[in-house]
Amino acid sequence: MALKLFNTLTRSLQEFVPLDPARKNVGMYCCGPTVYDFAHIGNWRTFVFADLVRRTLEFSGYHVTHVMNITDVEDKIIKRVREQKTTLREFTGKFETAFLDDLKTLGCREPHQKPRATEHIAEIIGLIEKLVARGVAYKAADGSVYFSIEKYRGCGCGYGQLLKLNLDEMRAGERVASDEYEKESVADFALWKAYVPEDGDVTWDSPWGKGRPGWHIECSAMSIKALGETFDLHLGGEDLKFPHHEDEIAQSEGATGKPFVKFWLHGAHLLVEGKKMSKSLGNFFTLRDLLAKGFTGREVRYLLLTSHYRETFNFTLEGLSGARAALARIDECVGKLRELAGATTAAAEMRFVDQFSDALADDLNISAAWASVFEWVRETNKRIADNSLSAQDAAAALAAWEKVDSVLGIGTKAEAEAPAEIQALANARSEAKKARDFKKADAIRDELKAKGWIIEDTPKGLKLKKI
Ligand code: AMP
Ligand code: ZN
Repeated sequence: MALKLFNTLTRSLQEFVPLDPARKNVGMYCCGPTVYDFAHIGNWRTFVFADLVRRTLEFSGYHVTHVMNITDVEDKIIKRVREQKTTLREFTGKFETAFLDDLKTLGCREPHQKPRATEHIAEIIGLIEKLVARGVAYKAADGSVYFSIEKYRGCGCGYGQLLKLNLDEMRAGERVASDEYEKESVADFALWKAYVPEDGDVTWDSPWGKGRPGWHIECSAMSIKALGETFDLHLGGEDLKFPHHEDEIAQSEGATGKPFVKFWLHGAHLLVEGKKMSKSLGNFFTLRDLLAKGFTGREVRYLLLTSHYRETFNFTLEGLSGARAALARIDECVGKLRELAGATTAAAEMRFVDQFSDALADDLNISAAWASVFEWVRETNKRIADNSLSAQDAAAALAAWEKVDSVLGIGTKAEAEAPAEIQALANARSEAKKARDFKKADAIRDELKAKGWIIEDTPKGLKLKKI
């Protein structure tokens, strides 16, 4: 079944056809974290959603280039660097590392590229220069450079592509607000922010003087560099539609004169116990807070994957306990299948796989996808109880589960429980194999065995099992 997704650009469900359908390549950009604190569970909903999109595309045979930027310079970061009397890199490095660790804990595939804004200042300046040359950006008296929405629209370009904007209303506030701004219109936004003493050491030279980039231009510059002037897919949380993504479109199309992105996907927000997360309400959770309560990354991932990406999701601790129970049912069933299959291998039983993938092809209908999983668990348990499963049948069922799990990414309990040291050895063995150093790979396998773990190579990568 063809994959259909809801494209925010057309406000409709559309068959996903990439720009290069013959080669099945997909360029996918997801706005990454602003590394000024640990990411919260709402942020994680969006990143797990991006991981589901990527895995679904890969399952459908696409070669995805997944780019996720790291926003390592913006207002909140600079404020904290100043308050904590530290350097930008030291401050952001800590949260970037934590973010990437959490991403792994949640079973997300690592993006192929993770560009940092501070390492793309030349590209950002280049893009702003193009906008100035095309007459859609101007330098204000304070040395900042702004994007002119009026000039951009004057060229026949659309502002308000992702949502309907009332530009007249935006302009109505102009007289009131413009005293506070150096810009010509309140709707205009900063591409380059002139240096102010509060910025401390966080500054770069530019043709317009010392300063730093605005947040929106960072994403335009990094996505164009990584994926080209027009690419397939851009994602983020729904709060980014405006102004962030709208401004990304304006900057990119304003500079290149070409359509920026073919498909825009936006994930709905997460609420906690029915309310917006906030520190004062005491309902603000990072992944680490949940791990400290005894939950696992796998349980959190499961829960985040239970609701449709376009529906607001209400996160509760009760829901996490439910996730634990649901995973236990799957683990028990898969564990029994492993025992029955032993060393037998077989081609996957496709009925379950097809049902599951048809559900996802329908705009990532995750409820129907999980329903197919639990229906399969029920049927399989019944067949096991009836003693009607041969080793061959069990192996075929397991192969089906592995295909399905390549999209869900929940793995099995044993894999999730492999300690970091064992995971590190397993990774070192993969590296050695990649480098064709089979002697080293075998030595690591023996070391793992001595520590009570066996490693299996499957077409989907390595699997760790406790002996
Ligand atoms: P930030 O680090 O603030 O730039 O946000 C990273 C991502 O998390 C963005 O795609 C946001 O849209 C998303 N996000 C922020 N808050 C929530 C929330 N409560 N629920 C879902 N996604 C969120
Ligand atoms: Zn962005």
